[in-house]
Amino acid sequence: MSTADSPTDLMERIVALCKRRGFIFPSSEIYGGFNGFFDYGPLGAELKKNIRDCWWNDMVRRRDDIVGLESSIIMHPKVWEASGHVAGFSDPLVDCKESKQRYRADQLFFAQVFVENVEFGPDVIDDLVAKKRISKEYGAALSDGKYGSPTLVGFVSALESERIEAELNEKAEEFKKKFRIRGQLKPISSNISGLVRDMTEAVPDEIDLIPSPATGEPGSLTPPRSFNMMFQTNVGAMTDASSVAYLRPETAQGMFVDFKTVVDTGRVKLPFGIAQIGKSFRNEITPRNFIFRSREFEQMEMEYFIHEDADWAKCHQEWIEWCRTWLLSIGLPDSHLSLYAHPKEKLAFYSKGTVDIMFKYPFGVQELWGIAARGNYDLGQHAKASGKPQEIFDEATKKKFVPHVIEPAVGVDRILLAALCAGYAEEDVKDEKGNVEKRTVLRFSPRLAPIKVAVLPLIKNKPELVDVAEKLYRKLKRKWNVFYDESGNIGKRYRRQDEAGTPWCVTIDFETIEKDGTFTLRERDSMQQTRIDEAALFALLEEKIY
Ligand code: ATP
Repeated sequence: MSTADSPTDLMERIVALCKRRGFIFPSSEIYGGFNGFFDYGPLGAELKKNIRDCWWNDMVRRRDDIVGLESSIIMHPKVWEASGHVAGFSDPLVDCKESKQRYRADQLFFAQVFVENVEFGPDVIDDLVAKKRISKEYGAALSDGKYGSPTLVGFVSALESERIEAELNEKAEEFKKKFRIRGQLKPISSNISGLVRDMTEAVPDEIDLIPSPATGEPGSLTPPRSFNMMFQTNVGAMTDASSVAYLRPETAQGMFVDFKTVVDTGRVKLPFGIAQIGKSFRNEITPRNFIFRSREFEQMEMEYFIHEDADWAKCHQEWIEWCRTWLLSIGLPDSHLSLYAHPKEKLAFYSKGTVDIMFKYPFGVQELWGIAARGNYDLGQHAKASGKPQEIFDEATKKKFVPHVIEPAVGVDRILLAALCAGYAEEDVKDEKGNVEKRTVLRFSPRLAPIKVAVLPLIKNKPELVDVAEKLYRKLKRKWNVFYDESGNIGKRYRRQDEAGTPWCVTIDFETIEKDGTFTLRERDSMQQTRIDEAALFALLEEKIY
């Protein structure tokens, strides 16, 4: 099997396939697209719906302890004050004044360049000072020969990526050449603590010396400042401060704000969960990596409420396991999944623990699903802000208390991208005549595949074949999304389905009409062909698509 050569290459091919086959493309493309927004075409919309349906079925319908909710996208602005989003839902932002590019400070990395046994040729130190690579004072000290080994000679920067370390080292090499500095570069390694830092860790004196990734020159980056990521809008005819509202940046607050209503009407008993799927909006500073970080995306979140004395750590662990097992059930490979426990010192003050399920995307290992133990912070905040108690009565102790919560929160688009990346393969295969050709295949699990079965009459000008094929197609279509294709040779039709990720093709051939009514069942991954009758085909689909 061969896949694309480099991670960037692979991503480009996946993006190209998504466009070519109508999975995903930029929003408002005829106007040049709109950064951070995407549209899902016919295959993408089906794939996305399958992810939502699998999650909803497994998380809500097939459990006795979880109920669903659909809250509004625009909620009372006080919700976002109480939740802390108005004051604190921000990312540190750095501007490049020269290129007008904007960066998330925690995604812009820099390193000091050190040289062992340094030798500066004539005017090199002056040049470094003039080009703002080192400060005047430091330049003066160097000119006076006040330096040890290794010697700091400047800074390099790069944006977060799989190759960050390699890129910083390449830039250090170029830097040394450009300024004609002699000596041995000290390798830059992110394993050595403090050597590679992000812009939130830069001290004020360093900021002017760090080159902008856009221009390669220092002096244009601003110090990091907070940027609130909520999209604002105005509700009603007035567009003044009194009408400001927000598009929700997460679906979770709907579950907290409606908690009491669900308890009073939903016949639920602790422990229980409220789940919701819906759009969220974040004005991300640097939307990137295709649909991985976009400004409009979809979340599937569940708040699992537990007794204040319950063993939260055990429950947290159980949800981590559940989420991981669920990802396997929709076909993501275990080899691509890992866990990341947030260090205690980086947790919000109310948080007891957060573990992210990470996925190995072509552009690096990144967060897919966050599972947080949030204590009773959210309900407590809404009780304070609204003046309405958010308590539950404990029959055993005859006391009221505010339940604690475990929150698994995942993005539909990130799961979809994970399925695309893990499923994508390019292979050399032999056609019917034995010639080697390339096939591109998306190995979606049957649960996720946008098209479950393609029904193909072997030839289109034989009414008996077409008639059987059409009947089978109509019958299958009542239950699943199936596709009918009668154009082109059969090999080409198989390839088209491979690219769409269709797990099975059913070919209606002469044996079907002349012998026993069975069809050829062609399996996507093995490309093996067997014969199957209608009842067995339905049984296979019922078993695999649940
Ligand atoms: P990140 O650190 O990647 O910005 P986060 O920790 O802010 O994510 P949460 O607020 O925990 O994310 O949101 C829960 C889930 O929603 C994430 O695990 C992710 O799957 C999804 N998500 C968050 N932001 C985005 C986005 N901009 N685009 C797509 N999905 C997102």
